[in-house]
Amino acid sequence: MKLTQQIKAWIFPKLCPVCSQIIKADKALCDSCRELVVYPSEKKKVCKICSLSKELCPCGKYIHYSRFASPFLFEGEVRRSLHKIKFRNRTDKIDAFARLTADSIIQRGLDRETDFVTFIPMSDSAFTKRGYNQAQLLAEKVSEYINRPCLPVLLKLRETPTQHSLPLHRRRGNLLGAFEVYPEDADKIKGRRILVIDDIVTGGMTMNEAAKTLLIFGAEDIYCAAAAFSPPSAKKRK
Ligand SMILES: [Zn+2]
Ligand SMILES: [Zn+2]
Repeated sequence: MKLTQQIKAWIFPKLCPVCSQIIKADKALCDSCRELVVYPSEKKKVCKICSLSKELCPCGKYIHYSRFASPFLFEGEVRRSLHKIKFRNRTDKIDAFARLTADSIIQRGLDRETDFVTFIPMSDSAFTKRGYNQAQLLAEKVSEYINRPCLPVLLKLRETPTQHSLPLHRRRGNLLGAFEVYPEDADKIKGRRILVIDDIVTGGMTMNEAAKTLLIFGAEDIYCAAAAFSPPSAKKRK
């Protein structure tokens, strides 16, 4: 490394875009964040929806979307960073997640299949309280990286308790009918292949309900992507 580069690296050290730890100039992520990256499995027996091994596959039995892509497990620093984005206004961290989410979409060839990108909406009251929707900000960036338009076609009709605050048997009912399509956008959905983006997928029920709503309005196919996800085996692996 040239002296000028060394000085530059000393004054402006390269930081892990997820957790802001100092990393080597040739690294994209720190070691602990890199451990949470997932790649489509090369093995024969992989889930057709997420291209991941059985151990990591987050897809449930009765889902309405046909493909799923995500770069990270929702653990460690990834989890902490996504919480900072969601609860502490750290929207500056979104771009790094958007780039990696776009990479995982491209790895699976989903960018070529997608007509447009949309996102999981917030209710009006939740949006007013937070001032931004992190899923929207993520989707807008991802749409730039995969070169597809981002259209805000979904509407959240009412505020719902967070899924993890409810016992399992109440979670599905909690979201039932929670999403709707803006009436003026109904024509844009018919026959389209839509990529729905959320920041975090844990149970998958939110994505599923959004996908179902878009299919009811005549979408041809629904794909989903998130910055991070929890595999159902998350508890067992810890
Ligand atoms: Zn890191
Ligand atoms: Zn799967």
